[in-house]
Amino acid sequence: MNNATTREIVEKYGFHFTKSLGQNFLVDQNIVHAIVQGAEIGKEDHVVEIGPGVGTLTRELIRTAGKVTAIELDAKLIPILQEELKEADNFELIHADATKVDFEALAAGENIKLVANLPYYVTTPIITRILNDKVGFQSLTIMIQKEVAERINAVPGTKDYGALSLLVQYYCDTKIVRHVPPECFIPRPKVDSTVIRLTRLAKPRAEVADEELFFRIIRQVFNMRRKTLANNLKALGYSREYVEEVLRRAGLDEKVRGETLSVERFAQLANTIKEMGK
Ligand code: SAM
Repeated sequence: MNNATTREIVEKYGFHFTKSLGQNFLVDQNIVHAIVQGAEIGKEDHVVEIGPGVGTLTRELIRTAGKVTAIELDAKLIPILQEELKEADNFELIHADATKVDFEALAAGENIKLVANLPYYVTTPIITRILNDKVGFQSLTIMIQKEVAERINAVPGTKDYGALSLLVQYYCDTKIVRHVPPECFIPRPKVDSTVIRLTRLAKPRAEVADEELFFRIIRQVFNMRRKTLANNLKALGYSREYVEEVLRRAGLDEKVRGETLSVERFAQLANTIKEMGK
């Protein structure tokens, strides 16, 4: 494979960036290496890359992994990637919208590692889908807007802590790999970025009898985060007496705010409600 830089490829094909597809391509090789290292890729791995652009990160993944599958939505990038990566025999390119791809079918029973420098508008939908659909993956190493990474990685009781933190931390361990400033891309984005790795836990962090109820309570708590937990439970339709009994059995103070509860505490709360009957 050749070693052409991002700028050289962009110039060679006269590529025009599409802002609506979040096209900011990496130009800093140090960041490319940091992503591959942070994702802990080895020859035994099947890596699925979402949004390869002109293949800057893809090229390094092809060198390091056993097999690479890339999913790119922009039709203009397909012939460029095919030409630039034609020598790779462990590479497959899929022209599709990653928000609609059936990752389960794509993994075909293998435990894949996902790597992506995602356009910001698809970040949350893709993470949510991959986690909720229970796609078999070992880790998800993604470059995302710094603020979103901080929300994912947040601890209870902080301003960044929310439904997204809980969704991700229920299924995964989270680790910030590194922060990436705008000058590492062309064109430069307006925001700072962060590479974060989500490593799937062998089983969810807490035992939850009714996941639908667990996430319904979490959504309610963070939609109205300044309310006490008791008031949020009442807003879900439970009576005052019922809520008092739930809190007593779960060992929670009547004044507690839901935003201070860990994954385990939310699980305990949802399990208590389930036990008492809805
Ligand atoms: N990975 C490249 C890099 O690091 O230089 C490009 C990253 S750029 C931020 C995001 C890429 O995702 C673009 O190539 C864009 O066309 C592609 N993309 C945007 N939306 C997508 C979607 N829904 N499905 C697949 N690819 C998408």
